[in-house]
Amino acid sequence: QAGRVPLIAGNWKMNLDHQQATVLVQKLDWTLKDKRHDHAETEIAVIPPYTDLRSVQTLIDGDKLKLKLGAQDLSQHDSGAYTGDISGEFLAKLGCDYVVVGHSERRTIHGETDEIVGAKVQAAFRHDLTPILCVGESLEVRKEGRQVEHIVGQLTADLAGVPAKDVATMVVAYEPIWAIGTGEVATPDDAQEACAALRDTVAELYSGDVADQVRFLYGGSVKSGNVASIMARDDVDGALVGGASLDAAEFASICRFKA
Ligand code: PEP
Repeated sequence: QAGRVPLIAGNWKMNLDHQQATVLVQKLDWTLKDKRHDHAETEIAVIPPYTDLRSVQTLIDGDKLKLKLGAQDLSQHDSGAYTGDISGEFLAKLGCDYVVVGHSERRTIHGETDEIVGAKVQAAFRHDLTPILCVGESLEVRKEGRQVEHIVGQLTADLAGVPAKDVATMVVAYEPIWAIGTGEVATPDDAQEACAALRDTVAELYSGDVADQVRFLYGGSVKSGNVASIMARDDVDGALVGGASLDAAEFASICRFKA
């Protein structure tokens, strides 16, 4: 992870209303302060539903919490007749640092293609948001041994037209679909194989220097008991955590994987 600050990001998905969000963020902050967590050593982001963003932002700003804030998706458009969609401009105004793009639940349930995902990556950059771009293969693709080919294809398509200066700042999460919310975690070797292949792809498309700056996360049933072995691998720079980020003590332990 030469020079790259690890990032642990908690994707709450469609869980917790704004009151529950406030409770969780306060508990998380108390726990981290109690353990004297150094946010410069491991960065932590919470990614609540849109309706919680304002409450969490108020807490972060008012109490000067060091947590970063992210949203779970954004529109590829900036404004207009897109009922139900949320623009990157709104997210930036609410103090979001990150935005998840191309989560497998968006790709599968909402039919988001690589073309849409790529447009969302560009929309994020238009509003100074850092995309956390998710790629990952299904169980079927893994059984056929085509996982690397699949995720390299997704990354290449999603980055089309994105300039090197932006790519260097972004976060890419390898999230095998078969490991998301299933309790079945990829091995550290699987995570390393995928993250290294993705980094090589950025090096080929851009340069080795750009590839060295991108942070690659692993996501899929990360827990306090398995995070350290995954994080020990060279090309894994962090974790995108779903279910386990809904429990303040468990998420804090994941964030403290170095302890
Ligand atoms: C996710 O949805 O990004 C995720 C990794 O979920 P879980 O940790 O619950 O598998």
